[in-house]
Amino acid sequence: MNILFASSEIFPYAKSGGLADVAQSLPEELRKIAQVYTMMPLYQTVDRQNYNIVFSDFSFDIWLHGIRHQIDLYKNANNPYELFLYNPILCDREGLYHDNYGDFGDNHLRFAIFSYGVIETMLKLQLKINTIHINDWQTALIALLAKTKYHLSQKIVFTIHNIAYQGIFHKSVMNELELNWQECFKSDRFEYFDQVNFLKAGIFYSDVITTVSPTYANEIQTPYFGHTLDNMLITNNYKLTGIINGISYDVFNPSTDEYIYKNYDKQTYELKSQNKVKLCKELNLAEPHRPLFVFIGRFTNQKGVDLIVQSLHLLKDFEINVAILGSGEKYYNGVFSKLVDKYHNITIKIGYDEALARKFYASADFLLMPSVFEPCGLNQMIMMRYGGLPIVARTGGLRDSVVDFTDLHHHNKHQGIGVTFDEHSMFWYMHAITKAISLYANQKKYIKFAKHNMSVDNSWKTSAKEYLKVYK
Ligand code: ADP
Repeated sequence: MNILFASSEIFPYAKSGGLADVAQSLPEELRKIAQVYTMMPLYQTVDRQNYNIVFSDFSFDIWLHGIRHQIDLYKNANNPYELFLYNPILCDREGLYHDNYGDFGDNHLRFAIFSYGVIETMLKLQLKINTIHINDWQTALIALLAKTKYHLSQKIVFTIHNIAYQGIFHKSVMNELELNWQECFKSDRFEYFDQVNFLKAGIFYSDVITTVSPTYANEIQTPYFGHTLDNMLITNNYKLTGIINGISYDVFNPSTDEYIYKNYDKQTYELKSQNKVKLCKELNLAEPHRPLFVFIGRFTNQKGVDLIVQSLHLLKDFEINVAILGSGEKYYNGVFSKLVDKYHNITIKIGYDEALARKFYASADFLLMPSVFEPCGLNQMIMMRYGGLPIVARTGGLRDSVVDFTDLHHHNKHQGIGVTFDEHSMFWYMHAITKAISLYANQKKYIKFAKHNMSVDNSWKTSAKEYLKVYK
């Protein structure tokens, strides 16, 4: 089985969120049993030297609407199955954000160049591929091109990591990208309120659609979670399936993680607290024996940051410490900036910092994840691996991976233990936090659950097998 996996970001080369983690860890697991090529744009921010990414002596042109776009192919010298496509329009940009990939006005062209480039690379190098796995709107056009322009025989598997981001553009891009109006510009295909929608094309033209948890697969077929594509998904649900993500057990491993202060595992769990003591010192948080609550994530409404912000003036009087790490939308960056030095027991760090994030996981007793919606969520899995309890809204993948510690009669041993709440309101969020504090007061019980979480299997072992089934 030979697979081509295309993604707009892959860890550690470029990462703005969970997609990069998945695009690294799923191929890594699949490579144990299949041949997997990965392709991503070689953004100017990728550290070519450090990762040994070299030019593969292969370039070709894509002509779109009379304009020539040159693509240079690079590869990882240590792993020739990791390929990188360089084109200046696609790659030479400063920002890379999950929300909008920099909100560049020509994103349709950038990711069309990438999509054409992925297919042309496969054909020109005569790669023997059975299945092309594409991810989110940035690579969704590959499905449309495969079916309407190239008439490829490969199976196209399309994964929706977050339906909130769809890639919607003016219909004039039909000409610019040389697409067939008659075939594609239809309300059940690429057309979307007289515009075009890349994600919608992915849904229609792929052979299999997966999304990143069973609950989210159901949720996106409803108006609230479907972000206007719920009917489109109901129509196409015969080919839709939910497969929960895993995390890399090599990357996220408290016994080897080089970013954290003190390595530990389940057997040496008591060493974890040394991380908390050091982090609290670094963050100027007094009394490190208190439970430490952390939030790590993008500052956007989806992550429940409104609840986080509103709760701080209450949590300032609690016998807890809170540490927040994130960045995102301008509005929320501004809101959090104003709160940075306001409370003695709350630290806020604005930015994206992989090393600090790992220190947070290694030090935290509880992870805050009050998401409005959460397709899968990786943070809660990372938190479990690092021996802490997630506090989660019961939605999407959070619902599938975490059970409330007071509700263990519904618990199967493959699920993590944490605190969950149903209604997205300040009352129930604060209720969950006070439950967590009361649990922490009973250290014996808390540690039992924390150690249970460390032995829960959130690796790709099971889910990669599910993917192999859909690839066939
Ligand atoms: P998303 O919706 O952003 O993709 P996920 O939970 O799927 O959310 O994945 C988020 C990933 O990004 C995790 O690996 C998390 O640790 C990481 N992350 C998010 N924000 C930050 C940040 N500010 N600094 C470092 N890592 C971050």
